[in-house]
Amino acid sequence: MNGDGRETATLGNVSLRFYDTRTRTVRDFTPLREGCASLYLCGATVQAPPHIGHIRSGVNFDVLRRWLMYRGYSVTLCRNVTDIDDKIINTAHSEGVPWWEISERNQRAFTHAYDILGCLPPTVEPRATGHVPEMIELMRTLIDSGHAYEAGDGSGDVYFDVRSFPDYGALSNQRLEQMRGAGDTDTDSGKRDPRDFAMWKGARPGEPSWDTPWGRGRPGWHLECSAMSTKYLGGTFDIHGGGLDLVFPHHENEIAQSQGAGHGFARYWLHNGLLTTSGEKMSKSFGNSLLIPQMVRKVRPIELRYYLAQAHYRSTIDYSDEALYEAAAAFQRISGFLTRAAEMVGTVEPAAEVPEEFAAAMDDDLSVSQGLAVVHNHVRDGNAALTDGAKDRVAELAARVRAMLGAVGLDPFSEQWAGSGDSGLREVVDALVSVALEQRQAARSRKDYAAADEIRDQLLAAGIAVEDTPRGPRWELRRG
Ligand SMILES: [Zn+2]
Repeated sequence: MNGDGRETATLGNVSLRFYDTRTRTVRDFTPLREGCASLYLCGATVQAPPHIGHIRSGVNFDVLRRWLMYRGYSVTLCRNVTDIDDKIINTAHSEGVPWWEISERNQRAFTHAYDILGCLPPTVEPRATGHVPEMIELMRTLIDSGHAYEAGDGSGDVYFDVRSFPDYGALSNQRLEQMRGAGDTDTDSGKRDPRDFAMWKGARPGEPSWDTPWGRGRPGWHLECSAMSTKYLGGTFDIHGGGLDLVFPHHENEIAQSQGAGHGFARYWLHNGLLTTSGEKMSKSFGNSLLIPQMVRKVRPIELRYYLAQAHYRSTIDYSDEALYEAAAAFQRISGFLTRAAEMVGTVEPAAEVPEEFAAAMDDDLSVSQGLAVVHNHVRDGNAALTDGAKDRVAELAARVRAMLGAVGLDPFSEQWAGSGDSGLREVVDALVSVALEQRQAARSRKDYAAADEIRDQLLAAGIAVEDTPRGPRWELRRG
């Protein structure tokens, strides 16, 4: 506490602030335990391979995690996998394979997508079906305390009684009397109130099921997150994250279950904005071209990460190819400066600290867009210093640019990206381009400028832009 009674984070006098969905205000971040930050993120429902709309949340919260780490916190990230749900079961039926084959296949696709976009693996990644005992315990606690009940129609469903929890609706700023039915069952015959939501779904013929004291059935989506966050992060933890579309009913229901069971639950609620195409939420029908393997054919993975991370995490991204290529070009201006800087001054290590202006932007509810504006200012100054041949200035600016990019997982020279599949290929392309450039130089020497230009045009047609500099020609990949 400081003089005016406000709680302030005191790690090195840093005041880290986040917009908290629950209070609808920007709040100073004070962790439950000093120096530690516990973070729960609703992960994938592995019913289909991911498109960029799914992965945005992973990238946004990876930036949060990295910034917390930069600020000295030891971060525990729990991101769940919903490996059972209606769509997984339906897809399995239509393909004639077991439900777990669908889950496994898509979970691998998600893991691969997170990896190639440079998201650090979560500390723990629990799967719903591996935590049925924890869910049974939570249901028992809620039934015993009068917050939940077994369905009255013999279906085997277990429902949460929303009227038993006075705060229901607080997160999404709704009043119970204005809410409609939960719509999560075929009929509401077993419910005391249509707004009550299913925590557990009784077994239906041909569907996977697990044994409980209330009969066989399968986990509901909301219940798994309450049970698994408690298991791995404790009854009270720091930050709960997810997409804005999860605020209601999913997160509202998680709060009802966990606080109904006597836990403090999440202390801060952070939600990322959605990714739309032409203003509409992405749906599977037009999402196929935006699957991750397709996307990284359009731009490099690090450029895709830049595209997803550059907007404020709470803003909506309306996807277009043009905007993607613009972002890739913006990133290439940064990486191009770093390459030219290295050519002039040799290897540049990241500075120990990021510039204050960058840090201030990130501390203020993770304003990556403002932070990247600082990066681009550095690049502009750095390019001027390159032209002036001011070596020390170039080295200093490049070191700071690397530090800033590294803090958000975008440093192209970092081990993480240098080790990505692209670099080996780059060496091969570099060797091939060198051969072509030697031939171009030979043509110029004999004053055959038509032949020299043709070589340059052919390289450009192959996506390689050649630029003549005082230090000789250099090349860059130009995609899109
Ligand atoms: Zn969840």
